[in-house]
Amino acid sequence: MSKTYKITVMPGDGIGTEVMAETIQLLDAVSAKCGFKLEYNEQAAGGAAIDKYNDPMPDSVIAACKASDATLLGAMGGPKWDHYTGAMRPESGLLKIRKELNVFANLRPVSVPAALANSSPLRPEAVSGVDLLTVRELVGGIYFGKPTGNDGFEAFNTMRYTVPEIERVARVAFNWARKRRNKVTSVDKANVLDVSRLWRDTVKKLHAAEFADVELNHLYIDNATMQVVLNPRQFDVILTSNLFGDILSDTTATLGGSLGLLPSASLGEKYGLFEPVHGSAPDIAGQGKANPVAMILSASMMLDFLGETKAAAAIRKGYETALTQNLRTADLWREGYKKASTSEMGKVIREEALKSL
Ligand code: NAD
Repeated sequence: MSKTYKITVMPGDGIGTEVMAETIQLLDAVSAKCGFKLEYNEQAAGGAAIDKYNDPMPDSVIAACKASDATLLGAMGGPKWDHYTGAMRPESGLLKIRKELNVFANLRPVSVPAALANSSPLRPEAVSGVDLLTVRELVGGIYFGKPTGNDGFEAFNTMRYTVPEIERVARVAFNWARKRRNKVTSVDKANVLDVSRLWRDTVKKLHAAEFADVELNHLYIDNATMQVVLNPRQFDVILTSNLFGDILSDTTATLGGSLGLLPSASLGEKYGLFEPVHGSAPDIAGQGKANPVAMILSASMMLDFLGETKAAAAIRKGYETALTQNLRTADLWREGYKKASTSEMGKVIREEALKSL
């Protein structure tokens, strides 16, 4: 009997629904050929959930995610819901699901194959061959620290980490480095912040105790942001906190030339949440212009997480082969290429993925 996985699917808002549709078609095609089944449970999230439930992330949706083997998410938010504040904002729904699933490690791989080097805002020779992975702490730090306050005159947030919180995400980074090029760069602001001094000390101690075979260096966030632009090929795994990772991973996102290429996986002890790095892109939503690659590669990370590594690799192969063809979505289009819609790009990746199996 073929194996069946339960997948909660949350297309969300804007281009989330468009890129999810392509991804599901691809997953169906690849899983059929690889001999396993994906059983989808579609749920509203973000703005769509506000419209349906008056809540961007109802407990029933979280329960559905917890009852499944993995969750795929498109993107949440958009101008229609911008007037909401606090817990009613679509972005609050995103923070809530991450916290509820306790997915403390956010993995954001960025690679720039030679075929894409010309799309980068940086010189092709500086970015060609970049292959880095940011491991960002996702459920702690300043986005969740208490106390917070805003009395209209004074406002504050709290950046707080404990040793176990730092150790568990650092362990993820070191383990990934061992599977890659064996180097971790830990990014902090230890010259100024107490919380960063604890971060650095904890990473050093864990390294000495369990991961001495992995090369480790430390950079301050300001320098790291510069180094990612000046010499991105020096990085293998970047380990950092929630706030610094949010900013730094968007900087690394520019290297390939479009946010539409970047997948992510958020992992904890038990659950996995897979979503593109980009948002709902209201400026291009509904026009068939969205690049489906970030969502598609997020699904490939999900298949790896489920242990379906052959199908995951076929999707990556399909994407890489598609890149060598004369076809680009609008975000990456240049003279000499044919402009592809979301579904045209999805179709080519699907065909190439199937050919590789
Ligand atoms: P965005 O990522 O939606 O868009 C930024 C720019 O990148 C836009 O010009 C957009 O057209 C382009 N872009 C993004 N994804 C693309 C794709 N797949 N293909 C082609 N072009 C793409 O960020 P934003 O404009 O700052 O935010 C829009 C909305 O999305 C806001 O409501 C924001 O809060 C929300 N948002 C959600 C998430 C999430 O759900 N994880 C992340 C970021 C932003």
